[in-house]
Amino acid sequence: MANTFYCLNICATIVPIMIKDQLSQFIKYLLASNEIYGPVQKGSVLEVEKIAQPTELALNGQLTHHSWKKVFLPACEKLFDYKGSSLSEAINDYPQQVAFGLTTFDLKALNLFNHVYEKDPYYQRRKCKTLLIGQSVAPEQDARTFKVFTEKLEEDILEHLEFDIFFEQRGDSFRVMTGSEEGQRVLADFGYDDYEHIQFAGPTKEEGLSARTLAIKDQLKNHHDPKIWEKLGKKCIECGKCTVACPTCYCFRLDDEAVLTEGEGKRTRCWDSCFYREFSQVAGGHQFLTDTAQRIHYWYYHKFVRIPEQYGLPGCVGCGRCTRACPVGIDINETLAKIVNSDPVGAL
Ligand code: SF4
Ligand code: SF4
Repeated sequence: MANTFYCLNICATIVPIMIKDQLSQFIKYLLASNEIYGPVQKGSVLEVEKIAQPTELALNGQLTHHSWKKVFLPACEKLFDYKGSSLSEAINDYPQQVAFGLTTFDLKALNLFNHVYEKDPYYQRRKCKTLLIGQSVAPEQDARTFKVFTEKLEEDILEHLEFDIFFEQRGDSFRVMTGSEEGQRVLADFGYDDYEHIQFAGPTKEEGLSARTLAIKDQLKNHHDPKIWEKLGKKCIECGKCTVACPTCYCFRLDDEAVLTEGEGKRTRCWDSCFYREFSQVAGGHQFLTDTAQRIHYWYYHKFVRIPEQYGLPGCVGCGRCTRACPVGIDINETLAKIVNSDPVGAL
């Protein structure tokens, strides 16, 4: 059957379906020439791990405990060695890889990373060498997730997400969609052409955000009660787990490490967290964020005010990972409800 083009609410098409066995064959096919990262069951949670067998992938539409950002931006990576004025980069050694099973929450977060790291050669090279395969979110998602966008149906938002191939679970089978020529090429090479194509229409911008999300931005900027931060500041232990788990936290620090030979050394880039005291410290010892209350306020302000203003994109995708990761029970949805002075609800 020839592939079809996807039209929202206009064309009635027969939905193309890939059965489980075919999917397993497809994963084996990809494994032959790629490293594959995907959700793997680790105890009671899913984590993004490199797999060796198709059976290791848990494609059940549930969110992984930590986000996918390590696949595109390792927690710590060497950028280059330097010797005098010459640099040697490892940028050409990145392997061909597949990120298999990002949910729509994760693909939305990647929209932001693509903008933030638009001119970063390391991120861009890694992304170019990554085939992005999405999966639909299970309807019985954890109650700690919430909606940042106005769109109700997943179908409505796929055209705003970047992916190569997307699998939507239909019982034991999968509806197959492509989002790029690369996705179509890979499926064709595998010998499969029964898919729908979704044309990428650019990321959902601020106008796609819900009224409540915009109200949070306005409150945070103009009217919120600062006592919220004092209270949270007494609870937070500044462990930084929320920033590690969050798919949209992108801050990093650079470390230069000299070796004994004069003029030689290496530069590394590692994830950083605005919850750490050193984060806002500058030369001479001055610290811009002096206590926990200021640091936690900074985190919320960055996500809900500065990122939307700087990039025109949401700084939070509503995955709820920060709440799940927090050892002292700080719940982002509850905090946001306090900011807009309303009760905690499941959708923003
Ligand atoms: S702030 Fe929390 S809910 Fe928002 S994207 Fe980050 S982890 Fe998910
Ligand atoms: S996970 Fe909780 S305690 Fe740790 S830094 Fe984040 S808000 Fe604070």
